[in-house]
Formats: sequence, structure tokens, C-alpha cells
Amino acid sequence: MSPPTRPALPLPWQRIETILLDMDGTLLDLHFDNVFFRETVPQAYAEKNAISFAAAQAEILASYRSWEGTLAWYDLDHWSGTLGMDVPHLKERVAHLIAFRPHVVPFLDKLKQQHRSVTLVTNAHPYAVALKFKKTGLNDWINTVYCSHDLGHPKETPGFWQALQRATGYNPETTLLADDVESVLKMAQEQGIAHLIHMAAPSSQLPPRFSQRFVSIVDFREIMPP
Ligand SMILES: [Mg+2]
Repeated sequence: MSPPTRPALPLPWQRIETILLDMDGTLLDLHFDNVFFRETVPQAYAEKNAISFAAAQAEILASYRSWEGTLAWYDLDHWSGTLGMDVPHLKERVAHLIAFRPHVVPFLDKLKQQHRSVTLVTNAHPYAVALKFKKTGLNDWINTVYCSHDLGHPKETPGFWQALQRATGYNPETTLLADDVESVLKMAQEQGIAHLIHMAAPSSQLPPRFSQRFVSIVDFREIMPP
């Protein structure tokens, strides 16, 4: 699906000191999350309430929309309470879909070889992070993890970046963030983060959608450090 090679981007790696990487849709295939939230959760809800899948899906997608971009949206406990189901446990049903995106491992290997520290910045619930680490071994390449759940703010809000600043003291001018969500990149930009990369192909099952606002790549081959 992805074009074989596209021109390398002149990312000034020699000036980059802090590397912040998103997890879902950036390092890992968003297909898992899409299937889980759009199919697995509605299916379980339909079974529990003896309603059709279509009715369950319509109700649940409307509920997602009302919480989008908030900490509650990313909080599996919130959804367990709202839907009356053990949502974290449901993830096990489709855990076989948890996978790296193409060309992520060589990129992470290169960062490790260069002794660069990698920080995961994610809106994913700590339970989801633990499950994904267990399934992929991603933690072998990650030095530090910051979950919005722990910092008390989602990445779409200034509070996340301010809390991260207090926790790590990162210098925004020498910081790189790669993320598949434009509203997150926009907030990071407002907080002064200088090097922003948009991931255009978060799901292996959907065609790339390039950002008009940020440097937008299909995969990490395009920004591989020299
Ligand atoms: Mg993401």
C-alpha cells in the first residue's frame, strides 16, 4: 500500500535531544484500536443488551463522539462504567491484531544504536500500554513512558505538555514529536515543540491521509537518522 521510497526529509537530527513518540497509529498499527472500538466493543454491548449490532454500534459511536479528545475518552475504566462491561478484558479478544507498523523496528533499532533516549507519550490507558508491551516487546526500545492518564491531561490540551515539562524539563526547541493525530501536533506546536512529524498512515488497512499543516510521512524510513 505504501509507496516504496519517498525523498528523505532533512530532519536536523544533530539538534534533536529529546524524542517523543506516540504509540497507537505511530509505532503500532491503529487497525487494532479501530477494530476494537468500532467492532469488538459494540458487538459485546449488543450481546449484553440483546440488541442488534447496528443499534449497539450507533449508540456507542455517538457516545464516543461526545467524549472525543477528553481524558475520559481514553479511560478504559470510564467505558467499563458507562457501558457496564469489563472493557479492558475485552481487548484480549482481538489482541492478535496488536502489531508494529511497517519500518518501525529498524527506526527504533537505529535510535538505540545511537544511544538516543526514547520517550513514549500516549493517551492510551496504562492497561492498554501494558497489554501492547506484552504483545510486541515495544518496551525494549522505550526508555520512559508518560501516559495522559498519569499526567491528568490528554495530549490535546496544554496541561499534558506543561506536566511533561515539569516532569522531564525537556527543551521544546530540541524536541521531536511524532504522532498520527493533528490536534495533538497542533497543541505541541503551540507549546513550542519545534520538530513535528505527522504519521499519515496510522492503520495498515486504510490509505494514507497526509497533513497539510505538518511534515507528513508514510513511515519512518523517511526520517531515518543518518
Ligand atoms: Mg496515536
